[in-house]
Amino acid sequence: MKYADEFRDPVKAKAVLAAIERAVAETGATPQEPLRVMEICGGHTHAIFRYGLDKLTPAAIEFVHGPGCPVCVLPMTRVDECLEIAERPEVIFTTFGDAMRVPGTRGSLMQAKARGADIRMVYSPLDALELARRIPEREVVFFGLGFETTMPSTALTVQQAAREGRTNFSLFCNHILVPPPIRALLDDPDMRLDGFVGPGHVSMVIGTAPYDFIARDYGKPLVVAGFEPLDLLQSVLMVVRQIAEGRAEVENQYARVVPSGGNPAALAAVEAVFEPRDAFEWRGLGEIDKSGVRMREAYAAFDAEAKFGVGYGAARRNSRDADLPELAGCRCGEVVKGMVKPWACPKFGTACTPETPLGALMVSSEGACAAYHLYAGVRARAVDAESERAVS
Ligand code: SF4
Repeated sequence: MKYADEFRDPVKAKAVLAAIERAVAETGATPQEPLRVMEICGGHTHAIFRYGLDKLTPAAIEFVHGPGCPVCVLPMTRVDECLEIAERPEVIFTTFGDAMRVPGTRGSLMQAKARGADIRMVYSPLDALELARRIPEREVVFFGLGFETTMPSTALTVQQAAREGRTNFSLFCNHILVPPPIRALLDDPDMRLDGFVGPGHVSMVIGTAPYDFIARDYGKPLVVAGFEPLDLLQSVLMVVRQIAEGRAEVENQYARVVPSGGNPAALAAVEAVFEPRDAFEWRGLGEIDKSGVRMREAYAAFDAEAKFGVGYGAARRNSRDADLPELAGCRCGEVVKGMVKPWACPKFGTACTPETPLGALMVSSEGACAAYHLYAGVRARAVDAESERAVS
């Protein structure tokens, strides 16, 4: 297939859906005891809702939404540490737009900007570096946030700054890795997962080998998937077929984009600039070993944590963050772990909406709560309206 609309062909979709139906029947799963398939990536969550795949697939499949949205899993205390740097008078703090409204215990970057901090939205780390070139008298800090997908561009920018000998550019590093939280979820006795739809963009960088432990150690299938409706349906079919046949393997549905060995040039840049942290906190999941990276000693001059003395704290709050006053009653932690659906949160669609987000899952365009609000909420309202019409 060459064009996007070929990946949205309804005739082909019906054929794949029929094959899914047959494969699910072979597993013995029922709507009461469904197969729980986690889509790790927030982009997949949105595609599933945007195209209504949760409704088209058999009721004996339950999509469980994973922690693959970097903005959603950023802990409140880390946002506080951002503010500590961003509010310094000599600093221009640069960030991608979706991080602006993530709440910390002292508010968000957007609120700090309203209070007078010089916080600017950029589209790439190179924009931040360009700002540092143009305004040499100010300290330009880039808020590095994201999974393996965005790490190479950050690493390459730091290397470029080093080549230029730039002294007024630094990185506040919050890059995180996909495999460690998946292991943490699989180790959680309260979680039951039968298979995974693996992230497409992350895998483009890291390849498929880093997921091998999921099949080898936990006996669960994982299929790396693309983002079009037929990509996702075919990936679900591949996962369900593995379960039906008693197999657990890592397969690659997105081979047109994802090389099994990943991107060696991107991986080399990441390896040169970053090293694993002992642990990093994830909102809702707590601290996870080796799940984040920091800058290597060779690039310490570009490390905002060292430059401004705002390091990653030892006493991070974990999912009990829900006790913080502004999050009382919210269920962000359980939603991020895939244990409850956003609808289960009492704030969903009332106190917490995309316009007035309380939790990060409603802020980011990749957050599960934002997806439910945007797509499933609309559908639920349509169903309600339909029933009202039928009654009247
Ligand atoms: S609706 Fe808002 S407060 Fe509730 S879980 Fe989602 S993001 Fe958190």
